Amino acid sequence: MPHRFDLVIIGSGAGGGTMARALASTGARILVLERGGFVPREPENWDPTAVWKHLRYRTTETWLDRRGRPFLPYTHYCVGGNTKFWGSVLYRLRKEDFGAVEHLDGVSPAWPIDYATLEPYYERAERLYQVHGEAGHDPTDPPRGPYPHPPIPHAPQMAETVTRLREQGLHPSPLPLGLIDPGAPDGCILCNTCNSFPCRRHAKSEAEVCCVRPATGQENVTLWTRAFATRLLTGPTGRRIATVEIERDGETLRVEAPLVVVACGAVNSAALLLRSADERHPDGLGNSSGLVGRRYMAHLATMMQGFHPFRLNRAVFQKTVGINDFYFAGPKTRYPLGQIQSQGRTHGVMGQTVVSWVPAGAYDVWMARGIDWLALSEDLPRPDNRVTVGADGRIRLEYRPNNGRAHRRLVRKMRRILRRLGYWLVMTHSHKTKNTTHQCGTLCFGTDPRASVLDPFCRSHDVENLFVVDASFFPSSAAVNPGLTIAAQALRVADHIAETELRSLS
Ligand SMILES: Cc1cc2nc3c(=O)[nH]c(=O)nc-3n(C[C@H](O)[C@H](O)[C@H](O)COP(=O)(O)OP(=O)(O)OC[C@H]3O[C@@H](n4cnc5c(N)ncnc54)[C@H](O)[C@@H]3O)c2cc1C
Ligand code: SF4
Repeated sequence: MPHRFDLVIIGSGAGGGTMARALASTGARILVLERGGFVPREPENWDPTAVWKHLRYRTTETWLDRRGRPFLPYTHYCVGGNTKFWGSVLYRLRKEDFGAVEHLDGVSPAWPIDYATLEPYYERAERLYQVHGEAGHDPTDPPRGPYPHPPIPHAPQMAETVTRLREQGLHPSPLPLGLIDPGAPDGCILCNTCNSFPCRRHAKSEAEVCCVRPATGQENVTLWTRAFATRLLTGPTGRRIATVEIERDGETLRVEAPLVVVACGAVNSAALLLRSADERHPDGLGNSSGLVGRRYMAHLATMMQGFHPFRLNRAVFQKTVGINDFYFAGPKTRYPLGQIQSQGRTHGVMGQTVVSWVPAGAYDVWMARGIDWLALSEDLPRPDNRVTVGADGRIRLEYRPNNGRAHRRLVRKMRRILRRLGYWLVMTHSHKTKNTTHQCGTLCFGTDPRASVLDPFCRSHDVENLFVVDASFFPSSAAVNPGLTIAAQALRVADHIAETELRSLS
């Protein structure tokens, strides 16, 4: 016998978790399916060796790259999804990101909605995820009101860096950060194991803490962990999903619901639709455009470390500074280069993952004298950057980053900035084609069913009762972290579902 609910949400990360929280108060009977389990609260949460060397929380699943070679994607399957491990830098897209923007290597396409449409949902998402920040410092900020919480103060070393960046004519601004009650007895302690680590205190603003736990505290919301959605099966017309097929503890289960919200992350949502191909949808569910899985984007990202042998870096929580001076145009070019943000502290074992023969202890001495930054540039969509699935269901990710000239200029510029700050050496590292942390774009939204997979409310153009609310819907990747935009759009789609679909159910 199939299980019956009013709505099934597949995935409990930034998109799915936020959707569950937003719809919990409607009273609809909601089932959240999550392929992973809860991340336990344990000492290993903050142990760099457990997290970075033993990859304790990473998936063990391998994907194939464009040459068919297996690789371990940097992704996590658990309640809260990748938000459990994020750095919680929660930016709004810039107003201009919603329009078409010319870049050195091509054009970033326009979104079917503008900034003003998403603005009220950004505001709600910032409250839900308790974002700290201060408007008025970042020259690229879109029109906005004050942040719900004051900015996280810079550690003394970072405050001094900010002063010296200003002396270079730059406009450093406080990073918008989702942290819960910093300084309060049970709140965030601003430690040095935040970005890429789960928070042992549950003081990071992430989807499990801010959304899934409050939602499942209500009787009408059920969470099934270790429940992997394998296929979406359509009914007689082919226009609606009738059944969600699930593997759970070696059993095949079936769930029926009039509404299905897919939120598995950009790669897995595309894979689920492709695996759901049937006679009426031979190329995959919702794929009349041929775009399911295509236009994968991931940001061009380079970790940068300035090193000075006699300058000990005493900052514990270092991730508080953003530099957006080159977001719209670079020095000596009218084209955008991207953004720069300070990173969490690097630990010795993280260095070992790049060059393994150097002992972690030696790296620790090195890292104590380094300051860490991340340079991010927009990745431009192209159809041959794509997710496909093999006959065995295995994911293949064909990807080549697309906006390299802008990114190389950004990295060169940051290198010069760090040298002017007095650092003797600047080290860089990039995941390049294996970059999956900011994955997006595989089911893009738009108004034209021939040129997009989803409509502007993230409903499939082809399948009436299918919505997708994770990072898949992005038509362009912009150059800021994607999480807040995923959450804001999930809130917008939730309002739309509550006002239309759920109203007609009651
Ligand atoms: C180390 C790290 C740091 C990051 N830092 C930041 C940051 O500072 N700011 C920011 O904005 N973003 C950051 N990101 C990116 C951010 O985490 C993602 O953009 C965001 O979580 C994506 O949301 P999503 O809903 O698309 O997918 P996810 O949050 O990944 O959620 C997808 C969920 O679906 C589940 N799932 C997948 N397939 C199935 C299936 N078939 N059946 C059932 N369940 C399934 C997964 O287990 C997962 O829980 C970071 C990511 C990483 C890894
Ligand atoms: S205590 Fe604060 S800084 Fe440390 S992991 Fe938790 S949220 Fe991050």
